[in-house]
Amino acid sequence: MTLADLGWNSFFADAFAALPANDWVPARLIRESPINYGAFLEDGEEIDVVLSGKVWHDAKNDADLPAVGDWVAVSVGGDNEDYVIRARLPRQSCFSRKMPGKSAEEQVIGANIDIVTVVTDAGEDFNPRRMERYFTLIQRSGAKPVVLLNKADLYPKKQNQEASEILQQLSPDASIHITSALHNTGLKVLLAHLKRGTTMCIVGSSGVGKSTLVNQLYGEDWQWTDDVNEVTGKGRHTTTSRELVPLPKRGLIIDNPGMREIQMWTDEQTLRESFADVDDIALHCRFQDCKHGNDAGCAIRAAVTAGKLDPARLDSYLRLDDEIEKLRRRQKKRQINTERRAKRDHRVKARNLNDRIQLEADEIGLMRHGDDSDLD
Ligand code: GDP
Ligand code: ZN
Repeated sequence: MTLADLGWNSFFADAFAALPANDWVPARLIRESPINYGAFLEDGEEIDVVLSGKVWHDAKNDADLPAVGDWVAVSVGGDNEDYVIRARLPRQSCFSRKMPGKSAEEQVIGANIDIVTVVTDAGEDFNPRRMERYFTLIQRSGAKPVVLLNKADLYPKKQNQEASEILQQLSPDASIHITSALHNTGLKVLLAHLKRGTTMCIVGSSGVGKSTLVNQLYGEDWQWTDDVNEVTGKGRHTTTSRELVPLPKRGLIIDNPGMREIQMWTDEQTLRESFADVDDIALHCRFQDCKHGNDAGCAIRAAVTAGKLDPARLDSYLRLDDEIEKLRRRQKKRQINTERRAKRDHRVKARNLNDRIQLEADEIGLMRHGDDSDLD
């Protein structure tokens, strides 16, 4: 592995060269925990690094602190010495969200992401409003949007084509592709997007085929979860806690819990926005805290009386928070089902592997036995 394979380019090289003279080396952050970070050095060596007090103090807010995907300058640890982050290089792109509740706080989900691939389909998951949200988020991050209309095998060609056209109109810059991750069709286009050192993240509802896609990109059975391997008790491969992982051919994938929450967040926003017309009417209520019940001067009730607002719609509007709660529960259920299915698949594989190991052990045992008897 070289720096370029990890995403290094002239932008970062210039920023690094501008740092005060020192013996620091560049590293890319691949994982963060409350106590330290994981990082790759130039040769691909994986190290633990801690933050220097200076970087911590100089950060104006949380979003300023190093995050997964960031390039940093580290001082190389001697004997018994930690690698220390001495500076964070500027970001080329940054995926962030406001912390729930605390509206002023920004949380960086991933830095220096070149491509965000949104996986959806032309059927069950298709929701242009939600996609609009994704496009806004991606555009704000500075990354390039790629959309996969996956599970193309399940829908008529025309339906896939129409869905693609609708999304293309929403975001003329987006690259939209019709794929079937399960059958490995249409996925070559992704390799065209993935240049050497390109960092990509994959988002989308649970069940749309993200793990299937990643498995295909790996060209082997590599699960995109942090489940523990039931056979060895270790995480699958050694990638368990990594959030930034190099792909075997080229490019890197960034995946962390924050990325997975983006979908929930976009759905909530979409639901709220779908009531924007009612919100507009509510602006005309006499009292700012109008509950739209029997309150005097309620513009919403007036609109219903005047036949300008469907009472059923007002009803759902009043239950918006309930709706969002229901949505969360639905998503949770879907997530659990997907995880259950993945676990079941994994158990079957583990059992098969177990059988194979047993078989091999038996064979070796037989050979040993034979050897032993030779010695005797
Ligand atoms: P994730 O939750 O987004 O990671 O979705 P998964 O990759 O776990 O896929 C969910 C289910 O959809 C699995 O049963 C997959 O086999 C299936 N699936 C994924 N891609 C396709 C596809 O292109 N076509 C069809 N028919 N099924 C797919
Ligand atoms: Zn009102």
